[in-house]
Amino acid sequence: MSYNIAIDGPAGAGKSTIAKKVARNLDFIYVDTGAMYRAIALYLLRNQVKTENEERISHFAKLANVELTYINGEQQVILNGENVSGFIRTEQVGNMASVAAKNEDVRAQLLDLQRNLAQRENVIMDGRDIGTHVLPNADLKIYLTASSKVRANRRYRELQEKGMECNLEEIEQDIITRDKQDMERKIAPLKQAEDALLLDSSDMTIQEVVDKIVVLYHENCGR
Ligand code: C5P
Repeated sequence: MSYNIAIDGPAGAGKSTIAKKVARNLDFIYVDTGAMYRAIALYLLRNQVKTENEERISHFAKLANVELTYINGEQQVILNGENVSGFIRTEQVGNMASVAAKNEDVRAQLLDLQRNLAQRENVIMDGRDIGTHVLPNADLKIYLTASSKVRANRRYRELQEKGMECNLEEIEQDIITRDKQDMERKIAPLKQAEDALLLDSSDMTIQEVVDKIVVLYHENCGR
């Protein structure tokens, strides 16, 4: 039986950085489900689909075949045979992903892929609905958050390091809008699962959060 760790939380809480490190530490596979939504969003943007056109979102999403592969342990997202990992980390794609993620067909399409992976492998999977919806029986559930200011600052630094043009106020506003959209949507909204442990990383280092999750895993395994 595979062991599954679910990490949910708002944008920029540090889920992916932390989940990657935990995966390395425990020799688990890291699954970034946001990247799957981003790949579909990229496809929608490339096809000039408008955010308010639900029918076209459903139609084009069905034509977007998303797969995951791993190169040297790093997740790669394949969209209709093309490795798009280098194109999905922009604010524009993130915002479109949040719009597409409200669509029932988009979510249904990605759900099977996510569940199948978790059934086969020991995974640490991050997203918005992993503990509540995708893997309700996950062995360990974490809800990772931080204040919107801290999250905006982190994302700003991340984008700057990649040499991308960005503005701190705009990033914070994007984060607030995206959280609201993710928390208020009808299907699988972002919320803390009842049995998830809340970790606020505002005043914690990345390593402190990683260590905490690794300790929780070992305690949990010893049951
Ligand atoms: O985590 P990331 O910022 O890459 O996610 C992009 C968007 O994809 C989120 O804002 C959210 O709307 C959507 N998403 C989701 N469910 C997940 C993962 C991501 O709805 N499990």
